[in-house]
Amino acid sequence: MSLLVVGSVAFDAIETPFGKVDRTLGGAASYFALAASHFAPVRVVAIVGEDFTDKERAIFRGRKIDLAGLEQVSGKSFFWAGRYSKNMNERTTLATELNVFANFRPTLPDSYCDSSFIFLGNIDPTLQRSVLTQVRCKPQVVGLDTMNYWIERTPAELRDTLKHTHILMINDDEVRQLTGDHNLFRAAKQVFKMGPRTLVIKRGEHGALIIHNKFMFSVPAFPLEEVHDPTGAGDSFAGGFMGYLASVGRVNEQTLRRAMVYGSVLGSFTVERFGVERLARLKRSEISARARLFSKLTSFKL
Ligand code: AMP
Repeated sequence: MSLLVVGSVAFDAIETPFGKVDRTLGGAASYFALAASHFAPVRVVAIVGEDFTDKERAIFRGRKIDLAGLEQVSGKSFFWAGRYSKNMNERTTLATELNVFANFRPTLPDSYCDSSFIFLGNIDPTLQRSVLTQVRCKPQVVGLDTMNYWIERTPAELRDTLKHTHILMINDDEVRQLTGDHNLFRAAKQVFKMGPRTLVIKRGEHGALIIHNKFMFSVPAFPLEEVHDPTGAGDSFAGGFMGYLASVGRVNEQTLRRAMVYGSVLGSFTVERFGVERLARLKRSEISARARLFSKLTSFKL
């Protein structure tokens, strides 16, 4: 099954206690595509400027990643800079330069219009919706990520897009902000009334929780002794999660539980190195080996 992602392809400047990089390939769609491509072919819809060269393109090459929907225009690509605190729990955004992203109007190439698995990365909900209207067949699964900025500034547009979403994938603060309820389980019931049938709550170093109206499941974050750069962990989680679902083409309790584990596995690899460095040289065998460790980590007898 083909998986389409819309989101940012960017250059990031990142500072963590382990070091600093000035300008490295980033953006939610980059992390998502690199993670998901281990499972299923991925179609990218995004915009970049002239500074996106063959060096960046090469990172996607040789994988099942279709860049026909990556529009290149004159100007500079989206640029984001962030700094992490000593314990990595807090992130300060130092710069967000939209550049060509400010005029992004996602246009799907004809070859993308039959995509059945869709991930709407964290962008303006009106643009997320416009991607859905361009898809010809009714998608099997629509996943969506958003953030406080859109929850505060475009609540009506976000609600409208959520009506067409099956799986909402956000962090715990965003769930509370979206619903106005501090309790995540009560908040989930409100999310279900907005459209999604499934809520995936990303909880950073505490793992992730899936709440569906028939079941709940929680995965830990993989226990790593050193986290070098948490950037993109959530997008890699989403890539592993959606990529796995697209690879099996079926959504039920068992596949959703496995998708949670693959999401956590992909997120855990990303944070081991800066930017997309670790994801870009990841092997399928390493993913399977870590998924087996997750199984050991979480199994118990009663
Ligand atoms: P995450 O760590 O999962 O929040 O994702 C970080 C990635 O999101 C970075 O590579 C940034 O380039 C990208 N990013 C940061 N801010 C935004 C934004 N406002 N819109 C879209 N992408 C963003």
